[in-house]
Amino acid sequence: MQKLKVVVLGATGMVGQRFISLLDQHPWFEVTCVAASPSSAGKTYADAVEGRWRMPANIPDAVKNLIVLAVEDDKEKIAEQVDLVFSALDMEKDQIKALEEWYAGHDVPVVSNNSAHRWTEDVPMIIPEVNGHHTDLIDIQRKNRGWNKGLIAVKSNCSIQSYVPLLHPLMEFGLREVFVTTSQAISGAGKTFESWPEMVDNVIPYIGGEEAKSEKEPMKIWATIENNSLKLAESPRISAHCIRVPVTDGHMASIRVRFQTKPNRDQILSAWSEWKQPLADLKLPSSPPEFISYFEEENRPQTKLDRDAGNGMTVTVGRLEEDSLFDWKFIGLSHNTVRGAAGGAILLAELLRAKGYLE
Ligand code: NAP
Repeated sequence: MQKLKVVVLGATGMVGQRFISLLDQHPWFEVTCVAASPSSAGKTYADAVEGRWRMPANIPDAVKNLIVLAVEDDKEKIAEQVDLVFSALDMEKDQIKALEEWYAGHDVPVVSNNSAHRWTEDVPMIIPEVNGHHTDLIDIQRKNRGWNKGLIAVKSNCSIQSYVPLLHPLMEFGLREVFVTTSQAISGAGKTFESWPEMVDNVIPYIGGEEAKSEKEPMKIWATIENNSLKLAESPRISAHCIRVPVTDGHMASIRVRFQTKPNRDQILSAWSEWKQPLADLKLPSSPPEFISYFEEENRPQTKLDRDAGNGMTVTVGRLEEDSLFDWKFIGLSHNTVRGAAGGAILLAELLRAKGYLE
């Protein structure tokens, strides 16, 4: 299978760097182009990220000497050279929307991390193992927009990936209400302790816009496709608190749930361990061996020890206990810049390729 040439828009940022790192030696995709703001444009990638490269592995050799292009001014040049766009920009939403639509309209598919298009009606928002079938919406999108090869598909907010994957196998018990509190890493704001010293020894009980996203986005993930459009799910009702904590990577979620019919402990554990995620047969390169992994130890999952499970693509869970107000409670954890951002987007692109949408 020939590799597709890809560009990472926002390649110098926190999520962009994660893309560059995860795409090194990828069997299906090859980074041939990197783009960022005018302040990085014209430099080699290595120079543009000097002093701010945050990944554990070194900058891949194949990317080091690429000249960074300007996201907006060089878009024509970029579109000529690539087969696929990964978008990880921090810009005004309207600018991002216009840019992503421009590429799709010029026959270049876009897989995006940004929130700009998450609520666009004909754009699917996908956690591949949960609602991979929403790729069907792309046929409708292409028809609506007159796009032939182009498309836009997005991934959800990072916070919901620490609990939606765990709730999904429990839907069969009639999940009614969810109360979730997320403890979110500083890399989720594109920051490190050097760039955000106020976070050392501190907790900030507010992340702008995050609670609304955490309550609403799952309803699009669990939507059904009816009459050529998405019908949003109406349950479970979700109440969310989102808190910034002094951790580099890894979003933890404390989750309480109420069901129509309360399952017992074994039923919940079996639902997680036996849930056959629908991508298993596709053997996608970034698909982890286990989508969900349960810890019996009462002090797990821990951000530092467990965020890298399954190369950062496994969602870990522990402390399943009966709750005095709700039915059950448990703790979830996912890696926010891998499963919650670049890794989730790469898995989505792999799914699109496996289904023939990137040919
Ligand atoms: P970041 O570290 O601040 O990086 C932002 C990137 O956008 C950089 O490459 C930057 O280029 C580029 N950029 C900024 N202003 C620009 C402009 N005017 N024109 C062109 N490029 C510009 O942000 P991030 O944390 O990686 O987040 C990127 C996106 O992913 C955001 O939309 C965020 O909401 C989303 N996201 C983040 C996470 C996470 O865990 N961090 C998770 C899910 C989704 P320069 O380096 O040249 O300035």
